[in-house]
Amino acid sequence: MAEAPVKTLTEFDQSAAVKLVQELMAVPGRSKQEGRIVELIRAKLLEAGVSPSNITIDKSTQQIPGGGETGNLIVNLPGTKKGPRRLLMAHLDTVPICVGCQPKLDGDAIRSTDPSTGLGGDNRAGVAVVLTAALELIRQKRPHPPITLFFPVQEEIGLYGARFVTANKLRSPELCFNWDGGDPGNVIIGATGDYAIEIDIEGLASHAGVHPERGINAIVIASLAISDLTQNGWHGLIEKGKHRGTSNVGIVNAGEATNVVTPKLSLKAEARSHDPVFRKKIVEAYRKAFVKAAKSLKSADGKSGHVTFNADLKYESFRLDPKEAVVSIAKSAIERVGLTPELCVGNGGLDANWMTAHGFPTVTLGCGQRDIHTVKEWLHVPNFLQGCQIGLLLASGEV
Ligand SMILES: [Zn+2]
Repeated sequence: MAEAPVKTLTEFDQSAAVKLVQELMAVPGRSKQEGRIVELIRAKLLEAGVSPSNITIDKSTQQIPGGGETGNLIVNLPGTKKGPRRLLMAHLDTVPICVGCQPKLDGDAIRSTDPSTGLGGDNRAGVAVVLTAALELIRQKRPHPPITLFFPVQEEIGLYGARFVTANKLRSPELCFNWDGGDPGNVIIGATGDYAIEIDIEGLASHAGVHPERGINAIVIASLAISDLTQNGWHGLIEKGKHRGTSNVGIVNAGEATNVVTPKLSLKAEARSHDPVFRKKIVEAYRKAFVKAAKSLKSADGKSGHVTFNADLKYESFRLDPKEAVVSIAKSAIERVGLTPELCVGNGGLDANWMTAHGFPTVTLGCGQRDIHTVKEWLHVPNFLQGCQIGLLLASGEV
């Protein structure tokens, strides 16, 4: 008798996963204040039987600007079958608006009952996927290859945990999966790179009513430069031939009085492009525009202002080959739960940018997040549970 093909869905305790994600969401943990959430995760793992010697907090805070309550949480689960080491990760921190959230299950959604807070599904849903996979493997005594669980801190304020991770503590994983997104069918295989630009303009103070001609107004220098950038297509959406990028002047601080020719201005901007060479060109266009503007504005006695220019690479872009093993394995797991995988590329930075830069090519997957970084944030529970299923499949090494 011919057997019908059986599609085995990964069994796991769904109500435990839904309970766990709410428990994680209720713990405050904005960037730099992840101490309590680390303690909760640690307690869950110890309770499940993970040996304390396999749970580490790294020393990344020594390098992260401004430190933080805790370093990254890294857990080693020794393999119970052979296979390349897999890494499952999700950032611990939430945006400040989520502090104080009171998660509540409402049909297919989890929302915060307090209308003034976000939910923190970004990224406690990701943390719950990773933790559920680990706890279920242990509970079911299901064979798995060696696994590293990686919970980086301070993603939201600059990908700091992933940037400054003590890389050898990750134990050379070969296949890396990051949960931080919405649609569980999406496989993010690339993301843009981003420069932080800081510009300080030094003009010359003078009485604005008595001797304005003796001064050099730093605000005017900035205005000339920004208008130059805008008119020449280097601000906002940038399209030059085949090249694409974006830039934005985001913060300007200057001036204390109207009766003084403003002598100082500080400005912060950003420049993004998937193309590292073109991204540098955007930065260079900024530098030239500000230097030119400073030279063009002169006081009555021929003096001109001065520009100090600084550009810092926040994270490098990356693009994985769709044929890479980590991509095809992620796609197979998604197909196994009945979804159609879709490869995509993001225009924001991800912890995966730094992971890939450290030599660990990482795909980023969805876990039901919706309307993140707003008070309307909610979690799509069926998508979250699909994320858990995919996580468990990837952790078990069955795909
Ligand atoms: Zn996130």
